Amino acid sequence: MENYQCTIGTGRAMGGDTATNDMLYVRGHPRDYDLWADTGMLGWCWDSVKPYFKKMEDAFAEELDRKEHHYGGPVHIENFQHSTHLAQQLLEAAHELGYKEIDYNGKERLGFGRPQATTKYGKRNSASQIHLTPSYRRRNLVIKPLSHVVKILISTHTHEAHGVVYLHEGHLFVAKSSKEVILAAGAINSAQLLLLSGIGPKEDLLPLNIPVVSDLKVGHNLKDHIAFVGLNFVLPQQHTKEHLECEGQNEMVKYLKSGKGPLTTTGAELIGFLKTGMLKDKLDYPDIELLVTRNIYNQGHQHLQHLHITEETYNAVFQPLEEKEGFTIQVVLLHPKSKGYVKLHDEDPLHPPIINPMYLSDEDDEDLETLLAGIHLAIKLTDTESFKKLGAAFDPHQIPECHQHIKHEDAYWKCAIRHLSISLRHPSGTARMGPDTDHTAVVDKDLRVYGVHKLRVADASVIPVSISGSLTAAEYLIGEHGADIIKTDWLGDKMI
Ligand SMILES: Cc1cc2nc3c(=O)[nH]c(=O)nc-3n(C[C@H](O)[C@H](O)[C@H](O)COP(=O)(O)OP(=O)(O)OC[C@H]3O[C@@H](n4cnc5c(N)ncnc54)[C@H](O)[C@@H]3O)c2cc1C
Repeated sequence: MENYQCTIGTGRAMGGDTATNDMLYVRGHPRDYDLWADTGMLGWCWDSVKPYFKKMEDAFAEELDRKEHHYGGPVHIENFQHSTHLAQQLLEAAHELGYKEIDYNGKERLGFGRPQATTKYGKRNSASQIHLTPSYRRRNLVIKPLSHVVKILISTHTHEAHGVVYLHEGHLFVAKSSKEVILAAGAINSAQLLLLSGIGPKEDLLPLNIPVVSDLKVGHNLKDHIAFVGLNFVLPQQHTKEHLECEGQNEMVKYLKSGKGPLTTTGAELIGFLKTGMLKDKLDYPDIELLVTRNIYNQGHQHLQHLHITEETYNAVFQPLEEKEGFTIQVVLLHPKSKGYVKLHDEDPLHPPIINPMYLSDEDDEDLETLLAGIHLAIKLTDTESFKKLGAAFDPHQIPECHQHIKHEDAYWKCAIRHLSISLRHPSGTARMGPDTDHTAVVDKDLRVYGVHKLRVADASVIPVSISGSLTAAEYLIGEHGADIIKTDWLGDKMI
């Protein structure tokens, strides 16, 4: 990576990241939520949260484990409206190794399945389209786009949150709250706003002259999923037709008119949730996700710029793939042991905070070893007869930084993991939920910030465990469950 830095982009838009994300719908594993509840957080175990997943879904994907899903909720779930022969061929390869085809949001959680997406009839369906569009005429809802909250107002005497200060078209405004303030600016920006408002570690705030309202470990416990993106394959010539077709004008018309064709997908063809030998317990709990995606890493320099890969690595590894038809097996680390942090540079709310995810920094190198085991699982897939029928060639280009190692031996892969892993942009845990006896906890089980009244956080920051998969579904859950908690608090017995 350039400067040893990678990008963690966030969607600064209505609907947040769901306006720009890859739209994969993954609930996570039941055990994730049971571990969440085991931290003392009653109400967040799988049996408690599953009804919320069902309630929010309008599930139309094929091959669903029907008993586990529901029609009629606001979040439309379907398969991407376009896939190629690749998915079927790789499913057969997985089958040869004894893996089943599964609905990874259903009962069986280890195996391979076709991606489920939060698209609706082939088009993106963001959180804003799902929740704000139908409600924007409500008299009790004010939406002010292009506004930037700079501080939460908290009374120094009562420690009560009573509004926010925000910047809009160059002017500062105050929005007062009559009941409470609910912060949902995402794992990076919610942490930044809490810190700017005096909620955070005393030792970090005092040097910046920010008066401490509540001395909590805000910004600590930053977790993110990373993926190794160095397993690239080139398909033989006859497949290029399919690739070129995607660029035709017809495809645009097809997409706009009927929500069909290659423009309806991000290129994700297949997802596998697998368990490596690194996990010693006997449960069906995955520690690696294999995400097979077509043509994302061979579409030119500009496309890769946002990943911050060095010119040298790009030219050596990806440039030779430009214009070729192919696919990548991304190896995703589901349960990182490494933890990072978000801190303030200074007290200016318009300066981005310091984000240090500390990837692959755990003492015993378990993260590195798990990714290595994941690479071995992916390579096993390529050794099957069904995979060989694809005629796909493993991209032979070597990562320049790893020339000193013998190619494809473990030392090479470990070096490659360190140089060619990217963030999947799933930051979480920076305002972690936990009991008051846990000195790292920032919010309680009802999303209330410790030491401050009338302030809750409801976004990825509060997730105290690693989720086995991407995060949107878990964040929708926090929204749905959080809404019920708040309604119960304010309405009590009056709730229907
Ligand atoms: C490129 C990318 C691809 C991804 N792919 C997937 C995927 O395929 N599947 C999946 O499940 N997840 C995916 N994710 C992750 C997922 O989208 C996020 O984890 C999730 O949307 C985060 O939700 P959130 O509510 O915590 O925060 P966000 O979605 O980040 O929402 C925060 C909102 O707060 C606003 N905001 C921030 N600061 C301020 C401020 N100071 N004042 C006013 N407003 C502010 C932002 O503009 C934004 O609208 C992806 C993320 C990215 C970036």
